[in-house]
Amino acid sequence: MSTLLTEKKLGERCVICEESKVKGIHLYTSFICSDCEKDLIATDTDDPKYKFYLNKLKKITTPEILS
Ligand SMILES: [Zn+2]
Repeated sequence: MSTLLTEKKLGERCVICEESKVKGIHLYTSFICSDCEKDLIATDTDDPKYKFYLNKLKKITTPEILS
């Protein structure tokens, strides 16, 4: 038994806040925690923060890079 090697990872790394969270949603291959999801929904499109989120999400929602 390799209990020492077993990393008890709680949750997944959120692409927005980059913290490990248990609750959240999966968007494509990425994970967004429920806190960021709520924040994103509550953020007005005129808010500069919204642009920040969009930039983060752009990396996820772009399925492939056109060359
Ligand atoms: Zn988050």
